[in-house]
Amino acid sequence: MKKQFAVIGLGRFGTSVCKELFRMNHDVLAIDRDEDRIKDLKDFSTHTIVADATDEKMLTNTGIRNFDNVIVAIGEDIQASILCTLILKDFEIKQVWVKAQNEYHHKVLDKIGADKIFHPEQDMGLRIAEFLTSEKVIDYIDLSDEYSIVETLATKKVEGRSLADLDIRAKYGCTIMAIKQKNKVDVTPHPEDTLNKGDLLVVIGHKNDLRRFQNEAL
Ligand code: ATP
Repeated sequence: MKKQFAVIGLGRFGTSVCKELFRMNHDVLAIDRDEDRIKDLKDFSTHTIVADATDEKMLTNTGIRNFDNVIVAIGEDIQASILCTLILKDFEIKQVWVKAQNEYHHKVLDKIGADKIFHPEQDMGLRIAEFLTSEKVIDYIDLSDEYSIVETLATKKVEGRSLADLDIRAKYGCTIMAIKQKNKVDVTPHPEDTLNKGDLLVVIGHKNDLRRFQNEAL
């Protein structure tokens, strides 16, 4: 379903969010105070507006009050990011998602009602560390400090063995959510399903349990 998004601040993060939403066929309003940044986004957004997002009047004139989803991707200027978020929450915009620069910034954003707070650099750092430390990890989603979802490769060690036989939940406290085998994805794995080398397992669990599962079982 087509949705409407506004992206404020077109640094690397804001630009890639904007381009991706537009590629997914959503309506995207791109806002930045720098005209050059706006020019680069003309072909990758529905509307572009040059505006200072800390100026309430200017923001009102962009028509942003009509949007349910706004992403604030102003990075270094923490003061501007906070002020802009405050104005957007005053406008009663339903979902204001904000990029945070550090933990202090995060705390303030949380207090003033940001609906979701991102730490793209930190998240990417965690993902890369996870890839570097395990050659079996294909992809990784951080759910919290403790829990994550990993996409991991089944090795020769589990070839021909069933999920019941491996008893993963009891032994490791992890749950296999899906199994990707060649051209098919099984999102309701059954205990009798058997694994082959090269299958992709999508597994959810505590990070320590996931690590143990990958090191011992696979
Ligand atoms: P990235 O890491 O994603 O490249 P960054 O953390 O370096 O971003 P900045 O470059 O500081 O972030 O800011 C991102 C964009 O936000 C810039 O294009 C900047 O012009 C814009 N910006 C900063 N303050 C405002 C503001 N008050 N109103 C509108 N745009 C702003």
